[in-house]
Amino acid sequence: PLASLKDASLLKTDALVAGAWLTGASRFDVVDPATGRKLADVANLGPTETEQAIAAAAEAWPAWRAATAKARAAVLIKWFQLLLQHADDLARIMTAEQGKPLAEAKGEVVYAASFIEWFAEEAKRVYGETIPTTDPNKRYLVIRQAIGVCAAITPWNFPIAMITRKVAPALAAGCPVVIKPAEQTPLSALAVAELGLRAGIPPGVLNVITADGDRSIEVGRVLCDSDTVRHLSFTGSTEVGRILMQQCAPTIKKLSLELGGNAPFIVFDDADLDSAVEGAIQSKYRNAGQTCVCANRLYAQDSVYDTFVAKLTAKVQALKVGNGFEAGVNQGPLIDDHAVGKVERHVADALDKGARLLTGGKRLEGRFFEPTVLADVTPAMLCSREETFGPLAPVIRFKTEEEAIALANNTEYGLASYFFSRDIGRIFRVGEALEYGMVGVNTGLIAVAEVPFGGVKQSGLGREGSRHGIDDYVELKYLCLGDL
Ligand code: ADP
Repeated sequence: PLASLKDASLLKTDALVAGAWLTGASRFDVVDPATGRKLADVANLGPTETEQAIAAAAEAWPAWRAATAKARAAVLIKWFQLLLQHADDLARIMTAEQGKPLAEAKGEVVYAASFIEWFAEEAKRVYGETIPTTDPNKRYLVIRQAIGVCAAITPWNFPIAMITRKVAPALAAGCPVVIKPAEQTPLSALAVAELGLRAGIPPGVLNVITADGDRSIEVGRVLCDSDTVRHLSFTGSTEVGRILMQQCAPTIKKLSLELGGNAPFIVFDDADLDSAVEGAIQSKYRNAGQTCVCANRLYAQDSVYDTFVAKLTAKVQALKVGNGFEAGVNQGPLIDDHAVGKVERHVADALDKGARLLTGGKRLEGRFFEPTVLADVTPAMLCSREETFGPLAPVIRFKTEEEAIALANNTEYGLASYFFSRDIGRIFRVGEALEYGMVGVNTGLIAVAEVPFGGVKQSGLGREGSRHGIDDYVELKYLCLGDL
């Protein structure tokens, strides 16, 4: 699948440290999840090279920080334009190593690029403040300064967007970055880094440490232990987020964490059911259900339950599963066998406890899994409590608004939530009552660069995107001018 790139030099397999490509003493395989075939081998780096990258970033920091915001913005805008110019190639690389349908991959490239454009603009608006004085001989000023060397550890489900969402605000604020991309999807990360170099990001300002699963743990430890690294941004599982938070405690590192979700999707009796079905398809089956904002548990009110479930099942049956490079495919493979195993376990557990299978339910060949709908699901089933991260829609029946809110909030997670209603009173009541960082009302798609993305409770810390997305990359400094 990678033979037909328009610009073959985007296919980088070495890591990027201090502006140079490092082959590394050992290599690891990157595999196409649709076929199980090897695509490339990539530099498998460890602690030593990670230390080098941190040192290179620290060395590059003073000049990058001292550049004007406008100069940094100009580099970012160039990078943004290069992503769009090479969107076809980037999408091909992504589909090859991640599996999502090509059109979805292209959509991610555009979405990923939009963070760079947005933060290029925000770079120029890192305003400070002056505070009215309480002492005639003093004046109080606040400035916002780049925090320092930043580290970013990113997942495989959005191989490019999860990088730009962290790197663009860091660079905009004047911080250098060391990225550790997911071991499943390093090729997308390296291609984007190559475009960064072409855009004029100086050596050492952007470093990419590639590593396999085992060495990622070692690399992560070095990034956390380093006192030079002042900020760590991580997107991934809550489990790994906890480990990283503990590892960052000794150096009191600033943390941005975007962790697991268990998104409820509630359909009230006054909802437009066709629109709710459309929203459910978009929210649940995008990326084969492998996004942290995917609807995980669907709730439908008693009087509309059967109609909603029937309409949803009909739409799900029309989804086409296949290799992401094939035209018309809506759902690609899951990322690995472990991911398929989890969906299988959730389906088996639900059927065992009395759920009704309406469509799907089985693994197809390889890592492909049928888009699945289960009815008569209860809160006791695994699929209502754990994040399935696959193409399974379990639908639960509820009677009252209070019950739906209580069910939705009964989780340690708090990332995305969705509900469908046409009642303006209910929209405010439920919107305010849901304990989530994000609420989609009458829509299943909520993420754009302009809004604050993030969770409450054990779904994370901080917000990415929007004018708030740069906050974690700057420190407030208060200047007290005395003896005036
Ligand atoms: P997922 O379950 O989506 O694969 P993970 O949280 O396991 O999510 O992985 C997300 C990212 O975190 C990947 O880049 C992975 O290599 C990295 N990672 C996993 N475990 C650790 C760890 N112990 N220390 C540092 N990074 C880790």
